[in-house]
Amino acid sequence: MRYISTRGQTAPLGFSEAVATGLAPDGGLFLPEQLPDLRGRWPGWAGLSYADLCFEFLRLFATDIPAVEFREIVRRSYTKFARTEIAPLRRLANGLYVLELFHGPTLAFKDFALQLLGNLYERQCRVRQETINVLGATSGDTGAAAIHGLLGKPGTAIFILYPDGRVSPLQERQMTCTGAENVHAIAVDGTFDDAQAALKEIFGDQDFRVRHRLSAVNSINLARVLAQCVYYLHAWLHLSAAEQAKVEFVVPTGNFGNILAGWMLQQMGVPISGFKVATNQNDILYRFFTTGDYRVGQVAPSLAPSMDIQAASNFERYLYYRMGCDGAKVRAIMREFKTNGGCRFTELDRGTFTASHCDDGEIPGIIQRVKQAYGYIVDPHTACAFRDLNPQRVNIVLATASPAKFPETIQSATGEVPVDPSLEVLKAKPVIKHRLPATAAAIRSFIEAHAV
Ligand SMILES: *Cc1c(COP(=O)(O)O)cnc(C)c1O
Repeated sequence: MRYISTRGQTAPLGFSEAVATGLAPDGGLFLPEQLPDLRGRWPGWAGLSYADLCFEFLRLFATDIPAVEFREIVRRSYTKFARTEIAPLRRLANGLYVLELFHGPTLAFKDFALQLLGNLYERQCRVRQETINVLGATSGDTGAAAIHGLLGKPGTAIFILYPDGRVSPLQERQMTCTGAENVHAIAVDGTFDDAQAALKEIFGDQDFRVRHRLSAVNSINLARVLAQCVYYLHAWLHLSAAEQAKVEFVVPTGNFGNILAGWMLQQMGVPISGFKVATNQNDILYRFFTTGDYRVGQVAPSLAPSMDIQAASNFERYLYYRMGCDGAKVRAIMREFKTNGGCRFTELDRGTFTASHCDDGEIPGIIQRVKQAYGYIVDPHTACAFRDLNPQRVNIVLATASPAKFPETIQSATGEVPVDPSLEVLKAKPVIKHRLPATAAAIRSFIEAHAV
């Protein structure tokens, strides 16, 4: 299987090369040259464990890694989850399920992809006999999950920038209390945008990037999207035939990465009835799927901070398919988006996608209502997905984070303080963070001193 860019101006690459490259050189995102047809394959997959299903699915894409080795990599990627089911599907009521994606090491769904990506990076180092320095900026969950994906891995170092004082105390502890020598959590004096701007400048320095074999960790890596397809398939396979026929996945959405994975699985032949894009008050995707207008606004910080996004980077992958796989059309749209801050589409995909949005004022009430109705506590991101469910469908709500990561919001909504043992352990550990100004020069010299 080869991988092409959404902008059509990059020569196709193999799986490992596309994963190591991240963003395509023409500025686009990698996608499989053709999507495999899964029809006829899944009857043999229904009884598999999560890791074995993941292997069977991903081997269709990772065709350049020997199967025995790849199976071992995939199995190892799901050993740090706190539940044997890995992604438990909990029934709350008739026709209503929660797919719990928060039992990984950082208690958010990003672990599903980043545990695997860390192992793929490690393999790449071994095969090429090179070291790699991974660099990223985070407003919370991605940084923590990336750090836990690379923790202690030989040949790698990871540098994560975050805005000092602006990530939650527990998220900061997940990044700074690991004790691992290859992890560098950098608290920059500035906002997330300042951190991102410094990072962009560093990646723009071709010589520096090549010299330190820098790789970016962000939400657009091909391996992340593919790894995320698996929990949709795993959940769907666990339903009765009657339920399978009317499933709607309801997905708390920011960068469109999670929901895109589900949609791609549908494109591979799995008959999923629909997807609901559930946004918080930063609702560019809600506006797009209800009006066809895709237009950036100002980011308004919310109680569901991992969805505080205006331009959804993975949306470009969806656009590519909607534009009939025409890279030239994608380039034109992205150009228009960049110059005008938006574009308008006339044809909506109403058959497949519906959308909802949820203001901050509504989130505590939803948390309280869900607890009263089902005796179940959802985190503020997952709460957005309960905004308005379609009673004609079997709803599977993706629970993207553990409520224990957001004790203040949950306490004010329900009076209870959710706890998770892994977070309690962190509270006793020393915080190791480096404070730096949010300038490319300061960060560059820090990397210079600590790179592997
Ligand atoms: C990252 C994240 C999201 C948004 O996921 P996208 O793939 O960006 O749509 C939602 N909830 C939580 C808890 C997250 O960490």
